[in-house]
Amino acid sequence: MAIERTLSIIKPDAVAKNVIGKIVSRFEAAGLKIAAAKLVHLSRAEAEQFYAVHKERPFFKDLVDFMISGPVFVQVLEGENAIAKNRDLMGATDPKKAAAGTIRADFADSIDANAVHGSDAPETAAVEVAFFFPAANVYSR
Ligand code: UDP
Repeated sequence: MAIERTLSIIKPDAVAKNVIGKIVSRFEAAGLKIAAAKLVHLSRAEAEQFYAVHKERPFFKDLVDFMISGPVFVQVLEGENAIAKNRDLMGATDPKKAAAGTIRADFADSIDANAVHGSDAPETAAVEVAFFFPAANVYSR
């Protein structure tokens, strides 16, 4: 299976709950390695650019408001099948529909405050990783 990189964001709700470590430990337990990481408070312009694909959706403004409501913990996860593996660990977008034991089932409150973001495909992963980290600051181990 291919070694992939994916972008993970621990969103402001989970950062505020002080569960960064609990979430990161799930990635590590699943065999994903942290190849880059930082805490960052996004500007409105940055959040709008990151979520530009959703700009016509009715929830766009609320999503941007939420994503800039506090700092987020951004990581590059690396490993076999990392993109799908991270999505499995996250669970469904709506925590009410997320499978038991997933990050969203355990830490998310609602479809908008849903604890984590994860890239959904190789193309988006490449764009999202580059959005936050220059290639020289991503470390394969
Ligand atoms: N979102 C929302 N309301 C919705 C659908 C999505 O607030 O009805 C937010 C939610 O935070 C979600 C993000 O928009 O994580 C991106 O939506 P997407 O469908 O890409 O879900 P994801 O890939 O994050 O599971």
